[in-house]
Amino acid sequence: MDNCIFCKIIRKEIPKKFEYESETLVAFFDINPSADIHLLIVPKTHIGGVGDITSEHSVLLIEIYQVINKLVAENNLEDDLYRVVVNGGKAQHVPHLHFHLLGGRWKKMV
Ligand code: 5GP
Ligand code: ZN
Repeated sequence: MDNCIFCKIIRKEIPKKFEYESETLVAFFDINPSADIHLLIVPKTHIGGVGDITSEHSVLLIEIYQVINKLVAENNLEDDLYRVVVNGGKAQHVPHLHFHLLGGRWKKMV
């Protein structure tokens, strides 16, 4: 998707430090954090949102939660507070499926 901000980040057209990268996923810090730790876990393939998930994405969804678990451990969140949030409809502002990992003190609604 030419004009998708997350596709541009994934294609490295916009410089961004990745906290995680595999063939299928990237994770990076949110530019406008809603919590002490606010990471975005983003599939490299352009999936618009929750409503576009199909059974073809079953392996990808497991990978997403495996990466979330890894990031939880790396950020010492196991015994702290953390949430995983996926926005949809009018709550979703970037139309490329992404999972928010929010850890520690919650600052505002994501
Ligand atoms: P949504 O509202 O779609 O669930 O969340 C989109 C998130 O992407 C927001 O938390 C917003 O701060 C973040 N975001 C938007 N543009 C950029 C960007 O260019 N870089 C990063 N790191 N985060 C972004
Ligand atoms: Zn995209």
